[in-house]
Amino acid sequence: MTNAVSAVAARRIAGWHVCLAAAPLAIAAYYLLVHFGLWPGTQVALYVSANATFAACALVTARRNRELRPIMLLMAGSALAGMVADITFYFLALVNEEVAYPSVADIGYLLAYPLMAAGLLLIIRRRTPGWDGASAIDAAIIAVGAGYLVYEYIIGPTVSVTPGTFTKLVSAAYPVGDLMLIMVGARLVLGAGPRSFALRLVAGYLGTVLFADTFYSVQSLNGTYHVANFLDAIWMAGCFMFAAAVIHPSAAEMITQSNAVTPDATTSRLAVLALAAVTAPASLLIQYVTDRRPHVIAAAAVCIVLFLLVLARMAGLVRAQRLAAITDGLTGLRSRRYFEEALGNEAARAGRNGLPLGVLLLDIDHFKRVNDTYGHAGGDRVLVEVTHRLRELVRPGDVVARYGGEEFAVLLPATSPTEALDIAERVRRGVAAAPIAVGDGQLARVSVSVGVAGMPSSATVGELVLAADRALYAAKHAGRNQVAVAERITGSPLAA
Ligand code: GH3
Ligand code: MG
Ligand code: MG
Repeated sequence: MTNAVSAVAARRIAGWHVCLAAAPLAIAAYYLLVHFGLWPGTQVALYVSANATFAACALVTARRNRELRPIMLLMAGSALAGMVADITFYFLALVNEEVAYPSVADIGYLLAYPLMAAGLLLIIRRRTPGWDGASAIDAAIIAVGAGYLVYEYIIGPTVSVTPGTFTKLVSAAYPVGDLMLIMVGARLVLGAGPRSFALRLVAGYLGTVLFADTFYSVQSLNGTYHVANFLDAIWMAGCFMFAAAVIHPSAAEMITQSNAVTPDATTSRLAVLALAAVTAPASLLIQYVTDRRPHVIAAAAVCIVLFLLVLARMAGLVRAQRLAAITDGLTGLRSRRYFEEALGNEAARAGRNGLPLGVLLLDIDHFKRVNDTYGHAGGDRVLVEVTHRLRELVRPGDVVARYGGEEFAVLLPATSPTEALDIAERVRRGVAAAPIAVGDGQLARVSVSVGVAGMPSSATVGELVLAADRALYAAKHAGRNQVAVAERITGSPLAA
């Protein structure tokens, strides 16, 4: 069994090693043949070998890994579309000498973009099943910043020098496709989730291919591009890198669900966002200083969108901070700070409307023993389970908070003393009703003591909390697993 596992691991490791080792060999052989003008068919075969390796590796992983299958099929489809386009292009070149633009080959080249983007989107979706809005906004900021540059320096000039509407559309579709990949790639790299080696290779692929595509567009515009220049090496290297990524053992981790909802705002992330955010105004400034006619409308529109995106991001951060401040990390209950704020507000409202108000203070009985017997982790499990039970036992509008270590507080708006006592009794019984699993098949019997107080019996919030605390103390003193209202004690000891 162990041998079989290590044999499989060795075969897979060999697979991605072979992909990475094949890259320089195929690229060197390709340029040698091009340089000496030998065997055009073999040149094409060597060039296409990069995309073919990519497609083959994606198909192998699709066969091996059910979870990755849809993603791998989309990516293999993208590689095959590119491959068919390359072969068509070279075939047309052989037959016609000069290939018309656009040609049928462009269908394959352009189809490769949405297939790759769809594959990447599926990876993102698996890694972060929630929306991770923060990363989506970050990716949008980068895409808008990059989009402005692409529009200003590539799409605009390309469209203006290209004759015919259809040709203009095809020419613009390439940078638009690249932009789509920038957006999805940025979302993948910036989003929460494990950064496996395979994912880094995918990011490397996107980086190299997007660099080569952009360079190609610029050279095409300048008229400096010629077939089989250094860009072919970058495109080929990118494909081999992608092939290695999908066949690498860590490929499965690409779709491992992230623990964090949103990644941290690290310095490097902020630097990238700052760079993206200043592209339009900086470019406008450069155009103004160098006496070129600035595209004021495009730059202003991009600035407006970027400001709004940054504001949306800030609003999200403020919301997250506020939520962290009022939420208890272990139980997810409201914090004591939130409870005190809510109590102040509810007390004022109750006073205005002449309504009663109830407060319960709960403390788990002999919790030190729980910790001593089952360990701190066992104690934490008890706290979490008591929280679940509390949530089930109170009404939807009631506020449950973690008041201290193993103390809880419940705010009962518009609740009479009799109703508050009923709820307290229900909570006491409900918590003690069944033992709590603390791990390793062990069960802990847990009970709570509850102090009840209310308004208008207590005149102020301070008095109210003090009265509930005194009542809790009285419940403890009376033997625990009790409910106490002021001096009056009700409830019965837990039957062992
Ligand atoms: P009593 O019935 O009088 O309340 O007895 P007790 O043992 O519960 O006494 P006390 O309220 O003083 O004990 C609180 C204990 O709760 C002490 C502390 O170590 C433990 N505790 C506080 N916060 C946490 C926590 O987050 N996790 C765990 N596991 N234990 C905690
Ligand atoms: Mg306590
Ligand atoms: Mg206690």
